[in-house]
Amino acid sequence: MTKPQTFLALNWKMNKTPSESVQWAEELLDKLGDLNIKLAIMAPSVSLAGLSGVLGDAQVGLGAQDISQHESGAYTGEVSAAMLKDLGVQYAVIGHSERREYHFESDAVVAAKAVQAIKNGIVPIVCVGEKLPEREKGEHVSYTLNQLRGSLAGVELKSADDLVIAYEPVWAIGTGKTATAQDAEELCAAIRGVLKELYPQFADQIVVQYGGSVKPDNISEICSQPNVNGALVGGASLQVAGVVGMVEAL
Ligand code: PGA
Repeated sequence: MTKPQTFLALNWKMNKTPSESVQWAEELLDKLGDLNIKLAIMAPSVSLAGLSGVLGDAQVGLGAQDISQHESGAYTGEVSAAMLKDLGVQYAVIGHSERREYHFESDAVVAAKAVQAIKNGIVPIVCVGEKLPEREKGEHVSYTLNQLRGSLAGVELKSADDLVIAYEPVWAIGTGKTATAQDAEELCAAIRGVLKELYPQFADQIVVQYGGSVKPDNISEICSQPNVNGALVGGASLQVAGVVGMVEAL
């Protein structure tokens, strides 16, 4: 099986003002050589318009950190997939564990958001992963795969490029505790098994990322695993030097 192109997605979370974002992106573009991987910035929604102007047709893609599950209408505070698409947004992180935890997003809501994204030509990066108790009980595989099935209910694809999955064990996010490359491979392979059931014709080419304390010195080992096709990176994505370091390591 040829692996899909490695995809490094930078999850800034709630960091950087719109003007800081623009400055940061200009500095990154200055320092990046030609890329042989896919690279995209997942920015807070207020920064997307500015970033879209800077990134233009450059090789760095643009993503949101969430979208509404609704098409349009009386949903105060929500941002629709069509609005993001109009700004040039190509990706959206969906069902990140922080959204599931602090905004009570269920698998059904996550699936509805993924459907909205795809319908509007935005690639959802659907996040799944266990917390520490499930890992300690040895239930991390079954828990994560159940979450995956629920988060993809009713999600239909026309090509392998319509969907990205990120396996992010919650105990490894922002804690400095990285899963081993073997842990990442175990789950990413199991995830691909479910993708083979759901999307047999596309599963081999769907990007499955690992996320959780990824940084320049561990990204290469993790991403060289057979079923790991890139990373979703939080903390180490905030500094230009960290991103350049990760790109060079890949
Ligand atoms: P981290 O975050 O790299 O800071 O652990 C990853 C994520 O939450 O996507």
